[in-house]
Amino acid sequence: MQLNGKTALVTGGGRGIGQGIALALAEAGADVAVADLDTDIARETSARIEALGCHSTPFQVDVTDSGSVNKLIGDVVSTFGQLDIAVNNAGIISIKSVDALSAEDWDQVMAVNARGVFLCTQAELGVMRPRQFGRIINVASIAGKIGFPDLSHYSASKFAVIGFTNAVAKEVAAEGITVNALCPGIVGTGMWRGEDGLSGRWRQPGESEAESWERHQKTLLPQGVAQTPEDMGQLAVYLANAEHVTGQAIAVDGGFSL
Ligand code: NAD
Repeated sequence: MQLNGKTALVTGGGRGIGQGIALALAEAGADVAVADLDTDIARETSARIEALGCHSTPFQVDVTDSGSVNKLIGDVVSTFGQLDIAVNNAGIISIKSVDALSAEDWDQVMAVNARGVFLCTQAELGVMRPRQFGRIINVASIAGKIGFPDLSHYSASKFAVIGFTNAVAKEVAAEGITVNALCPGIVGTGMWRGEDGLSGRWRQPGESEAESWERHQKTLLPQGVAQTPEDMGQLAVYLANAEHVTGQAIAVDGGFSL
C-alpha cells in the first residue's frame, strides 16, 4: 500500500498514537503535516519523518478552537498544495466517577475529543470536497463501543466520535471521500503509563505502576499484550488506501471488545 504523492495531516501527532500513525503514513510514502498543541513535540515527530525522506512540517493547533483549526487547514494547503488524508487523533482523558464529575470535567473532555473531531472534519471537508477525494480517519476508542466505569465522559465523547463519523460518511459518500473511526484498545502511551496514566491511577494497594500495567494487559486483553502505536499506523495506512470502506468503527484492540 503506497501513499506516494499524498499529503496527510495528523492532529496530536507529537507523541503516542498520533506519532505512530504519522510515521506509518510517511513510511508508506506520504508527506505529513504534524499538528499538536505542543509545538516542541510536533517538531520532533516532523524531524523523524524528514529523516525517512518525506516532507514534513510541524504546526501548532488547538483542536477545540475553530479559528486555530481553520488556520491550520489553510496553512497545510498553502504549504503542501493539497490535503488527501486527515487523521483527527488529538484527545484527552480524565478519570472520575459520575458522582464526582463536574460540568467543567465533562466540557473539557467533550471539547477536545468530540468538538475537536467535528471542527477538524468540517475544515478538512472544505478542502477535500472541491477535489472529490479524501480520507478522514477519526481516532475514537473501544470506549466508544462499550462504556467504562469512571470514564463516562470519555466514553460519551468517543461514542459521539463514532456516531459523527457514521453520519458524515453518508453525507460525503458520493464525493470520493471516506470517513472512518479507528478504535484503539490499550496502547502504552502517556494515557496509560506513568503515575497519572490509567495504570498509575488504577493501581491496587501495594502495586507498582509497572505491575498494574502488566495486570491490566493480562486481565483485560484476550491476547495478553497491549497494542502499539505502530499497530494503529497499520490500520491508518490501510484506511488511507481503501476506496470502499467508509462509516466504519474498526477496533485494533487484541480482542478487548469481544
Ligand atoms: P497522548 O496523550 O500520548 O497524545 C495525545 C496528543 O494530543 C498529545 O500530543 C497532545 O499534546 C495532543 N493534544 C491534546 N489536546 C490537544 C488539543 N486541544 N489540540 C491539539 N492537540 C492536542 O495520547 P494517546 O494515547 O496517543 O491518544 C491518542 C488518541 O487515541 C486519543 O484520541 C485517545 O483518546 C485515543 N485512544 C488512546 C488509547 C490508549 O490506550 N492510549 C486507547 C483508546 C483511544
